Amino acid sequence: MKTNKKTSGLLQLLLKICSFVIKVIALLVGREIVQYKQAQAQTQNLARREAQRRMNEFVSIASHELKTPLTSIKGNVQLMGRRLKNNIDLNTHSAETRELINEARTLLERTDLQISRLTHLVNTLLETSRISANTMELLFEICELDRLLHEVVGDTRYVPEARQVYIHVPENKNVVVMADPSRIKQVIIHYLSNAHKYSAIEHPIKVHLREEGQVAHISVSDEGPGIPACEHKRIWERFYRVAGIEVLNGSEVGLGLGLHISRTIVEQHRGQVGVQSIPGKGTTFWFTLPLLNEKSNIV
Ligand code: ADP
Repeated sequence: MKTNKKTSGLLQLLLKICSFVIKVIALLVGREIVQYKQAQAQTQNLARREAQRRMNEFVSIASHELKTPLTSIKGNVQLMGRRLKNNIDLNTHSAETRELINEARTLLERTDLQISRLTHLVNTLLETSRISANTMELLFEICELDRLLHEVVGDTRYVPEARQVYIHVPENKNVVVMADPSRIKQVIIHYLSNAHKYSAIEHPIKVHLREEGQVAHISVSDEGPGIPACEHKRIWERFYRVAGIEVLNGSEVGLGLGLHISRTIVEQHRGQVGVQSIPGKGTTFWFTLPLLNEKSNIV
């Protein structure tokens, strides 16, 4: 009887020891698995970053390399165009030669336009690689935003005369900020070009500038197709384009980079960007910049 009790006690102890050992082993294996997964995630993360770095490097080198021949081609095309225009007296030539010269002029003008588009694309790519490498430079100075807006809206290179653009700025008052004017112009031009690109030419574009507390608020509204709410976050991402939104004006190729660049520029000025849109009614893109007053200082 005594021996039986002893044996069962021993067995229970053995069972407890076994279950303890199993728990310890399970814990150790679990820890190993977690560590393995963490190491795997880390390796994947490093590989992704390396791929991103190489991609940026490639984009930067490729766009730099493309810029030089493009500048030279553009120069030659423009020179040829000028020579055909200024150095040839059409009256001294036969009708056939005159026709040929006119045709050559038209072709050169078209080529010049295409080279400008290509240059714009290359510059856009270069900008993104600068953003990724954190090497975008800003030259701050005192800017009057109302004047900047009038300058951009009045320039038919960005919005053709056929399009009605209404501009509303505060009366008898300049809206002053500390900013890099060429960069802020770039953002306004991009918002305006998109409004023009994605909405029918008969619909007006409205540009508003107002002061809101400590910031200047600039918006560009169109009556285009609108953007679904689920896309409002993603449109600011690099290379993101909304499916099903057609280019209605101009033949500019979209890379899905303009809004990404605009947001980076505005955020580097300590401002914010945003979009409001109702599908089927239109879209308003806006951004803010800190107003220049005694309290706000950008270093
Ligand atoms: P993209 O060069 O392709 O226009 P953006 O970064 O400027 O690149 O815009 C990203 C996407 O957001 C566009 O491809 C387009 O689908 C959408 N989008 C931008 N602006 C408008 C607008 N005013 N109306 C409708 N869709 C727009």
